[in-house]
Amino acid sequence: MSRVYNFSAGPSMLPEEVLKKAQDEMLEYGKSGMSVMEMSHRSKDYQEIIDSAEALVRELMNVPDNYKVMFLQGGGSTQFAMVPLNFANKNKKADYVITGQWAKKAAAEAERYITVNRVASSADKTFSYIPKLDKSTFSSDADYFYICYNNTIYGTRYTQLPETDKPIIADISSCAMSEVIDVTKFGMLFAGAQKNLGPAGVTLVIVREDLLGDAMDITPTMLNYQTHADNGSMYNTPPTYGIYVLKLVLEWIKSKGGIAELQKINEAKAKILYDYLDSSKMFKGTVVPEDRSLMNAPFVTGNEELDAKFVAEAKAAGFVNLKGHRTVGGMRASIYNAMPVEGVKALVEFMKKFESENM
Ligand SMILES: *Cc1c(COP(=O)(O)O)cnc(C)c1O
Repeated sequence: MSRVYNFSAGPSMLPEEVLKKAQDEMLEYGKSGMSVMEMSHRSKDYQEIIDSAEALVRELMNVPDNYKVMFLQGGGSTQFAMVPLNFANKNKKADYVITGQWAKKAAAEAERYITVNRVASSADKTFSYIPKLDKSTFSSDADYFYICYNNTIYGTRYTQLPETDKPIIADISSCAMSEVIDVTKFGMLFAGAQKNLGPAGVTLVIVREDLLGDAMDITPTMLNYQTHADNGSMYNTPPTYGIYVLKLVLEWIKSKGGIAELQKINEAKAKILYDYLDSSKMFKGTVVPEDRSLMNAPFVTGNEELDAKFVAEAKAAGFVNLKGHRTVGGMRASIYNAMPVEGVKALVEFMKKFESENM
C-alpha cells in the first residue's frame, strides 16, 4: 500500500489515525456485535456516538449553551435554501457578499424566496480578494448578513467580520475547525463535512436558538432547522456512519491539542507554501497576500501547457489532485487539517525541482 499526498479540495484527506480506527472498529463497534453501519440509530450505542460528536463540537469550538448543534444531510448546498427559508421570514430580505462560486450560488438560491442585496463582490478580479465593505450599501431591514468565510475555489478568506448588527450567517465548509473562530459573533454557521471534518454526507450546523422557530410556512419539514433541533438530529435516520467518522475526526483534533494548536500548524503549512510562491520565478499565487486562505492555495505558472505538465508530473510523484478549478485554471493545493506539514514541505521541494528543470 502506498498512500499519496492528496491535495483534493473535497472530499479530501482524512487523518490516517482516523481511518485506522474506523478500520479497527469496522466489523464490531465496542461490544455491540455489529458495525456502526448496521446499527439502529435509536440504539444506545448509536446515541452515545452522536452525543459524543455533539459534545466534542461544543468543546472544541467553544459553542455557548444558547446555540444548537445539528448534523444534517444534503451538503453545504442544501443550506443555501434552508438559510433564507428559516431566517428571512420577517422582512424577506438579506445581504450577501459575493466572494466566489459558493456565495454566488447561495445568493441565487436565496433569491428564489427573498430579496437579495449583493452588498459587494470581487467578481471583477476573478474573486482574488475579499472586497472592502461599505456600510452604506447594507440593508437596514435585512433579516441576516451572509458570507462565505473561506472561498474554497479562489483561495481567499475573511480575516475581519462585517460590522453589522444583523445575525451573520457563514458558510465555513472549507475552514471549519482549521482556525479559532468566535461562535458568539455568528447567528449561524454551517459546514459540509467532506472538506475538513469527515466524509461526505454530513453537514454540521450551529445555530443561535433565538433564530429558530420562524421558518416560512412553505418550508418543507426536513428543511426546517426546528425539526432537527427538536429531535437531536434524529427526526429521521441521520447519516449514521458519517457522523461516527466525524466523531473520530473530532477526537483526533482534540488529541492534537484542539483547534488553536491546529491553527498554528495550518499557519506554518500555509507559510511554507506561500513563501515559496512569493520567491519562485515560475509559480505565483493568484490571491492578494492579505486575504490568502490557510486551506486552499491556488497558483499558476502563467503557461497552460506548463501547468498541465506540472500537474501530470506531480501526480506521478504522488502529489495528487493539484489541478485548479476550471474557472481559475492552474493549480490549487488544498491543505486541510489532515495534510501533514511533511506533505507541504515535500510538495514545495517537488515544485523547486520542477522549476529548476523547466526554467
Ligand atoms: C464544497 C463547498 C460547498 C458545497 O458543498 P456540498 O456539500 O457539495 O453541497 C459549499 N460551500 C463551500 C465553501 C464549499 O467549499
